[in-house]
Amino acid sequence: MVTVKTGERLLLGEKTYDIVDDIDSGKEDSVKRPELRLPSNSDGIRFVSADAPEGVKNVLVGVQNKGYIGLIDFMGGDSSIVQAARTSYGSGTRATRQDRGLIRYLMRHDHTTPFEMVELKFIAKMPIFVARQWVRHRTANINEYSGRYSIMIDESFVPELDSVLGQDTRNRQGSQGELPDNVRMDFINDVETISKEAYERYRKALDAGVSREMARIMLPLSVYTKWYWKNDLHNTFRFLTLRLDTHAQKEIREYAVPMFALVNVVAPIACEAFREFTLEGTRLSGKEQDVLAIMLRGKSFEEACVRSGIELMRSDGTHLKTGEGPELREKIERMEKRAEKLLNATQAE
Ligand SMILES: Cc1cc2nc3c(=O)[nH]c(=O)nc-3n(C[C@H](O)[C@H](O)[C@H](O)COP(=O)(O)OP(=O)(O)OC[C@H]3O[C@@H](n4cnc5c(N)ncnc54)[C@H](O)[C@@H]3O)c2cc1C
Repeated sequence: MVTVKTGERLLLGEKTYDIVDDIDSGKEDSVKRPELRLPSNSDGIRFVSADAPEGVKNVLVGVQNKGYIGLIDFMGGDSSIVQAARTSYGSGTRATRQDRGLIRYLMRHDHTTPFEMVELKFIAKMPIFVARQWVRHRTANINEYSGRYSIMIDESFVPELDSVLGQDTRNRQGSQGELPDNVRMDFINDVETISKEAYERYRKALDAGVSREMARIMLPLSVYTKWYWKNDLHNTFRFLTLRLDTHAQKEIREYAVPMFALVNVVAPIACEAFREFTLEGTRLSGKEQDVLAIMLRGKSFEEACVRSGIELMRSDGTHLKTGEGPELREKIERMEKRAEKLLNATQAE
């Protein structure tokens, strides 16, 4: 199976994506997707407007060459969140709070059920190693391509050269640090060779009469699968919180970014609140608040940590690289960067 690019591009959030087609979708969907009717900007790039969110249902956006994600259906939007909230708080809220204010209030105070009134149905094609992380989000309804019923997709994920990094020594789940070119190129060649060979042997087994459910066991995690993934907005935000984070693997983040942009078309006010209070927000423990309060009184970060009981050093005097102390330092550095950006912008005015 091949993913065919239509040659058109879509502006989604801050990025432009290839619009792709799935030539097999005709076989799976009895209803063919309607013709693309999205407007385009002066550069000829298509865009979806929050005023006409239905247009988004027509589009599959390309991810990592062979994958894609599309929001093929949805129910509700910002207005259904507000409507549900007013049912619980009564009509009195209408006079005192505008829709945006109400949604931001709900987000800030974890009043989550109104966000569950919005339903989102995605279609996505991704390598199996990405699907294994994605499937851990248990509240979604999933229907996956069946390797028992159908022949597995003859496409494998091959990373870009720049994505092949060394083992992160601090975060044991992560990648960090450059590798020599020959190591990266050998790795990519091996991925390509093994994926091709595994698929050829898989087909050989099928041709010899081995059942599809058994033959597939020799395929690697790089092989593509695809599924329908339906979730409500609250739990989609949970997915996005974890999978947009820098601790998530880059290859799943590459799906989370367009997913968030697609959701933004359906519920822009809720997404704005989610970005501000969750993605860009931070959680502070009691001790962490003590550190900040002490620093506001002119003490250094190190002294504030000692007084608050947050450890920065081991008993042998060496600096800790992980744990509460270093994480708090990172939080404060992020805050400082935001403040610097803000101050520079206001100075420039
Ligand atoms: C960076 C990263 C590294 C990870 N590493 C590993 C790993 O090494 N090994 C591993 O096994 N997993 C790993 N995971 C998966 C992780 O532990 C979670 O299973 C996954 O992220 C789903 O999170 P969730 O449970 O919050 O989400 P969902 O399953 O989508 O649930 C959403 C929310 O619904 C509620 N909920 C759902 N189901 C239940 C339930 N049964 N009972 C009570 N409340 C429920 C919870 O509030 C939950 O937060 C990793 C995840 C990330 C982001």
